[in-house]
Amino acid sequence: MYIRMVPEKDIHITNHDGSDYCVFEKGVPIWIWDDRGGNSRAWGRFRRMVFERDDYTCQKCGSKEKKVLRVHHKKPVSKFPNLYYDIDNTTTLCDECHRHIPKMVSSMKIRGGKIT
Ligand SMILES: [Zn+2]
Repeated sequence: MYIRMVPEKDIHITNHDGSDYCVFEKGVPIWIWDDRGGNSRAWGRFRRMVFERDDYTCQKCGSKEKKVLRVHHKKPVSKFPNLYYDIDNTTTLCDECHRHIPKMVSSMKIRGGKIT
């Protein structure tokens, strides 16, 4: 797994064979590779699984009222991209609580353009 900064895309993670794994824009994944091979709806399905598990409730403030929910990765996917679709690494947060979490992606350290 390799990672490199792409100015217009912020972060670009590639598989060992050089194919795209994940592209982040401003900390938001805009393209994700999956086993089925392609720019998939996997993320949409996965999000729904997380929200359903958490009963569409923000796990920080307990609000059910908030309209915007976000999937938060407990371990930053910039460091642990293989945990991207690990439901145990996720929690549901409302937009407001999510905003108070430091941006992991922008603050991560990249050494030699490679993460292992
Ligand atoms: Zn909240």
